[in-house]
Amino acid sequence: MADSGVSRAAVLTGAMRIELAEFPLPQVSHDDALLAVAASGICGSDIHYRAEPDIYPRVLGHEVVGRIAAIGDTAARNWGVDAGDLVAVESEITCGLCRGCLRGGYCTGARYYGCSIPVDVAPSLWGGLAQHMYLAPRSVVTRLDPGISAATAGGWFSPLTNAVDWIGPLGADVQPGDTVVILGPGPQGIAACIVAKARGAAQVIIVGLRRDESRLRAACELGADHIVVADEESTVEAVRRLTDGELADSVLDVSGADSSAEVAAHLVKRGGAIAAASPLNRPGIVLPVSDMVMKQVRWHGMRSNRASAAPVAALLLKAHASKLDPLVTHAFPLEQSSAAIDAIASAAPTAGNAPIKVVVCP
Ligand SMILES: [Zn+2]
Ligand SMILES: [Zn+2]
Repeated sequence: MADSGVSRAAVLTGAMRIELAEFPLPQVSHDDALLAVAASGICGSDIHYRAEPDIYPRVLGHEVVGRIAAIGDTAARNWGVDAGDLVAVESEITCGLCRGCLRGGYCTGARYYGCSIPVDVAPSLWGGLAQHMYLAPRSVVTRLDPGISAATAGGWFSPLTNAVDWIGPLGADVQPGDTVVILGPGPQGIAACIVAKARGAAQVIIVGLRRDESRLRAACELGADHIVVADEESTVEAVRRLTDGELADSVLDVSGADSSAEVAAHLVKRGGAIAAASPLNRPGIVLPVSDMVMKQVRWHGMRSNRASAAPVAALLLKAHASKLDPLVTHAFPLEQSSAAIDAIASAAPTAGNAPIKVVVCP
């Protein structure tokens, strides 16, 4: 493709409207690079990005894996990668200059691949739903084992990076021997099962609905010890039974359900931790704050991950690749990027063939 001098991209040109366009391939300088995209994972955020009434036109796709097509000498040295390497790209591009960056905290001037940069900012190729993506200076790029399937990496690297932080000390803070409850068996919940076991959890309980059967089974393949089917039994009663009345040391809420914030608070034992990545901005969502105060619960809101999670995710991806391969259940070509987002959006799964992870392979 590089020979033609252009790259095709799926461009969001208005709310719910994605159209193919071509952009010239940029020349690489000393501190940047060009990625030949192999696979872009689609996640729940893309449903919201596609429907947003602003930032047009732009290229979506923020869970991006590909091969380095061209790279400057400084970037190659700083990032530890070379042309031809299979890499995963963190969506955040930090400024490196603000006080947050300099103190090792949150960047106040961050930009995000597949999300925040419109195509009228050169060189336009700022998202993974394209044949090529531009890798700006200060990108965070992680070399992957060359034997891993690019689709598997595109589907699972990003959920694993999040899970490393959401299950780790910043979030649910799972310690060896702990019981952890994971609310929601989507890709994020499944990745969390892997990380919880890697951190030494004695018991991982995955909670979903009857319609999530294939996802719940996948979670058990990857570390969950018990399934609770929340529309058939009380989650609190089930966890009480599975823990001899002690309840959970920690809870990760990645369900997206309205009731999950409240359920999480009832599942966690005194002094335990809750990591919540489900949005709370809908009417009717209850957070029982006084219960949480009396139990001295540590409650952490979770969003994305730190760059330090990426190398850990690469190791976990390699260790579990053969089990994750079949969990990329849907792969779409670039022309069907919108259908790929539909597949996630309509994940009201009919039994059996519910999507687990969806990727676009440009
Ligand atoms: Zn995502
Ligand atoms: Zn910054």
